Amino acid sequence: MTIHSTLAAAIGNTPLIRLNAVSEATGCEILGKAEFMNPGQSVKDRAALFIIKAAIASGALKPGGTIVEGTAGNTGIGLALVGASMGFKTVIVIPETQSEEKKDMLRLAGAELVQVPAAPYRNPNNFVRYSERLAAALAKTEPHGAIWANQFDNVANRQAHIETTGPEIWAQTEGKVDGFICAAGSGGTVAGVGMVLQPKGVKVGLADPDGAALHSFYTTGELASNGGSIAEGIGQVRITKNLEGFTPDMSYNIPDAEALPIVFDLLHDEGLVLGGSSGVNIAGAVRMAREMGPGHTIVTILCDYGTRYQSKLFNREFLESKDLPVPDWMAPSTRAIP
Ligand code: PMP
Repeated sequence: MTIHSTLAAAIGNTPLIRLNAVSEATGCEILGKAEFMNPGQSVKDRAALFIIKAAIASGALKPGGTIVEGTAGNTGIGLALVGASMGFKTVIVIPETQSEEKKDMLRLAGAELVQVPAAPYRNPNNFVRYSERLAAALAKTEPHGAIWANQFDNVANRQAHIETTGPEIWAQTEGKVDGFICAAGSGGTVAGVGMVLQPKGVKVGLADPDGAALHSFYTTGELASNGGSIAEGIGQVRITKNLEGFTPDMSYNIPDAEALPIVFDLLHDEGLVLGGSSGVNIAGAVRMAREMGPGHTIVTILCDYGTRYQSKLFNREFLESKDLPVPDWMAPSTRAIP
């Protein structure tokens, strides 16, 4: 038995779970790293911990200080929980379009929420850019100062995956891993794991949802995007500092119509409760398996727990409103008689 003396020590060392249906369909071993088993139920606990540790080490984050961040939610949940365990306050700037479940979880975790309209990065009121200005203002007024976590361009984020996720995957597969693939939000996961596994001869792929510009960048050199995705937390349109210095070996554009049925099947048939980005990742792993051929082992990331999206991804009316596939078993909506 291991006793963790802090919450931070309970982050990481997540299991690898064989995804049976997609493994059988491709003749590959497709394995999911169960990041939803982290204390904040997402992969972003790792980045949150490393960002906080780096800010303490540099002296920027002082005892009782405030952590400010712009986030689709999961990084904020990680920062709020790790922050609470270490005596820091968190102020989270989130686009109002993100799921209510994530916002509730942030409030529950003690974060102060600032909701802003969804706006592109070039707009100064974009959630990331707003959070940078808010952090600068709070640094002057908070009694113990404030820092901006800056997950997108703070490479302490990627360092978490260089020091933990990448080595864990290598050790758990005993080096018998041929491919790794996931989507990018900040890019910390794909670039950090990629930087560990590529030098060992593992092919590293990027799964890019509609609306993101990275697939276009890595295949044509142009940052261009089309459409959009309901998958939250991914869909990057610029080369963040966490992505700099990393180039995937292969990349695939994954539409929601390809990713979501995988999430529904895994829930119904394999008991895995996942969010939309996990579906994009697994669809990417399937594409990679088909490109590499049978007999390979491919690892991907199960980014967060699906209850976080009950009102959207697992809601028939929401899916119908977006013209997305609805599984037969999903509860029908109760319509009033006209
Ligand atoms: N999936 C979800 C649900 C996320 O919240 C995030 C992070 N925003 C990611 C995937 C992508 O992780 P990363 O930031 O390491 O690229």
